[in-house]
Amino acid sequence: MLDSIDAAARSLGEDLPGLVSLPGDDRYAAATSIWAKQVGVAPAAVVHCRTAKEVQATIRSARKHGLPLSVRGGGHDWAGRALCDGAVIDLSGMRNVEISADRRTAMIAGGARAADVIAATDPLGLAVVAGSVSRVGVAGLTLGGGYGPLIGRFGLALDNVLTAEIVLADGRILYADSTTNVDLFWALRGGGGNFGVVTAMRHRVHDLPSVHSGMLVYPFSEARAVLERCSLLTAQAPDELTVQQTLVADPGGAVMVLIVPTWSGQPEDGEARLQPFTRLGTLLAGRIERQSYAALLSMFDPYIANGLETVMDSCWLPALDRNAIDAFIGAMDDRVSPGCAIVTHEFRGAASRVAEAATAFGLRRDHLVVEILASFPDRSDAGDWLRHWRWVRATRERFASALPGGYPNFLASDDLDRARQSYGGNAARLMQIKRRYDPDNVFSSAIPLPRST
Ligand SMILES: Cc1cc2nc3c(=O)[nH]c(=O)nc-3n(C[C@H](O)[C@H](O)[C@H](O)COP(=O)(O)OP(=O)(O)OC[C@H]3O[C@@H](n4cnc5c(N)ncnc54)[C@H](O)[C@@H]3O)c2cc1C
Repeated sequence: MLDSIDAAARSLGEDLPGLVSLPGDDRYAAATSIWAKQVGVAPAAVVHCRTAKEVQATIRSARKHGLPLSVRGGGHDWAGRALCDGAVIDLSGMRNVEISADRRTAMIAGGARAADVIAATDPLGLAVVAGSVSRVGVAGLTLGGGYGPLIGRFGLALDNVLTAEIVLADGRILYADSTTNVDLFWALRGGGGNFGVVTAMRHRVHDLPSVHSGMLVYPFSEARAVLERCSLLTAQAPDELTVQQTLVADPGGAVMVLIVPTWSGQPEDGEARLQPFTRLGTLLAGRIERQSYAALLSMFDPYIANGLETVMDSCWLPALDRNAIDAFIGAMDDRVSPGCAIVTHEFRGAASRVAEAATAFGLRRDHLVVEILASFPDRSDAGDWLRHWRWVRATRERFASALPGGYPNFLASDDLDRARQSYGGNAARLMQIKRRYDPDNVFSSAIPLPRST
């Protein structure tokens, strides 16, 4: 017989003295204040873990008292999967980053954000493959994929993982790499937080003293020409060049086209490689600069606000072709508020050359992720939520050439059919490994896996 949720939370506190905070505590408030605004989810307790042993004790105690579990890393899952009604395993006290003596690898603790990693690597002229912003948790990003500006040269973040330390649903602490617990290591690279709590991962480190990049702002009235020219340039680009396109409203509500090209190859080639992107139309603002990787990952910080209500959907597109450009422009013409935005992430080069069966990640061909976002202050007006939801859904439907599935980190928790399509030929093996390592689905709050067959 399970305890009531409050009694279970108190029992958890008795089992784990000093580690647990409850509603009303400052530590609880800090851990539960995440990027996505939470509606109707109030965790009974947060456990502030600092070591793998504490994570182990938390899992065992929570399961004994019948408390559901979730894992909070960097707190930047768009759907708020870090929180659940039961106990939240808060990893934000585990953010250590240790560079190996030969500077070829970094051991990154399970709660570290990209900002923690670049604070350690940037001064040494080194880089770990991460996403395009500094505040996102490295483990959360990496376990589901990890698209970022270095993708063409070094692959997804998960292609750069060498070992993982993980606490399983039964409390065992295991190591996984290419020779030990091989199945688990395969599943962790793409299957998200479905297999346990990753307390540390060793990532490959690359020499990267600087990059060239810049946020180039063009008027929405020229969006078609700008996006077409951008698409032509990227089609012939070498692996070291990636481009992000964003359509977003400025504070006054006017839509802008933001083009962010990044060159991660030889510094002396950067200026020449990126200059053509400054001539896509009437450049309103922005310039190409040689800068640190840390500066690049902070570029979007002013646009990222915590605690907004956000409706999101996404899709995988084979290319930014004429139809896709029509869809981008049509969607922004029909925007329902200044909070509507569309963002792309490229997948190419080194990421596309990895064999599909090499990791659980299911789509290994050149493509774009299209992120469709609508943010607004609160849902007190139910009509407001519906309006934004309809815009997001209608926008996804505009992308007629979308590939089946979608980026698992961006799928909704009940999107099981698209999850199956996302993992493609890897779905059956992934589910077998899930059943072996988490038969009771303790980590059900993670990104969706294919529906069980
Ligand atoms: C503003 C913003 C920008 C983004 N940019 C990018 C981008 O450029 N590229 C990209 O690929 N993705 C991007 N994402 C998506 C992001 O990678 C995922 O949402 C990721 O899950 C966030 O990880 P987190 O630790 O910050 O999130 P959290 O909300 O803390 O965690 C989300 C879930 O990840 C799992 N998880 C996190 N840490 C661990 C761990 N140590 N062990 C086991 N499971 C864990 C858990 O299931 C957890 O519930 C972005 C998201 C946002 C909100």
